[in-house]
Amino acid sequence: MQFEPVIGLEVHAQLKTKTKIFCSCSTEFGKSPNANTCPVCTGMPGVLPVLNRLAVSFAIKAALATHCRINQESRFDRKNYFYPDLPKGYQISQYALPIAEHGVLEIETSVTGLKKSASPGFIWKRMPESSFTTRPAPGPWWI
Ligand SMILES: [Zn+2]
Repeated sequence: MQFEPVIGLEVHAQLKTKTKIFCSCSTEFGKSPNANTCPVCTGMPGVLPVLNRLAVSFAIKAALATHCRINQESRFDRKNYFYPDLPKGYQISQYALPIAEHGVLEIETSVTGLKKSASPGFIWKRMPESSFTTRPAPGPWWI
C-alpha cells in the first residue's frame, strides 16, 4: 500500500484597510484596550454589520492573483464559538459561498526547479472578521 502525502495550509492575511471589515472602527494596532470597539464589533443587540468595500476589493485582487473563480454570489455565515478574544460568541465568516474559490497556486520547488500546481479547487478566499486581541494582564494567573 502506498500513501500520498496531502498537506493543507490555512493562511491568514490581514488586509491593509484603515477600518475593520464590518464596522468603522480603526484597525490601528497598539491602542489602549477596548479603544477600537463599537456596538457592531462587540455584537450588541440590534446592530447590523456593513461590509467594507475596500476589503472586498483587496480580497478579489488576492483571488485573481491565485487564479480563483470569483463567485457572483457570496454569503457570510456565523461561526458560533466562545473564545476570550471574541466576547460576542460568534465570528462572521464564510463557508458555503466564499467570495472566490477553485484557485491554483504554483510553487517552484528547490528539488526539481519545476513549478508544481496545487490541486484545483484547493484555494478558497474567505473573508472572516478578525477576532479581538487579548493581552495577558500582569500578575498571577488562575485556572
Ligand atoms: Zn467596531
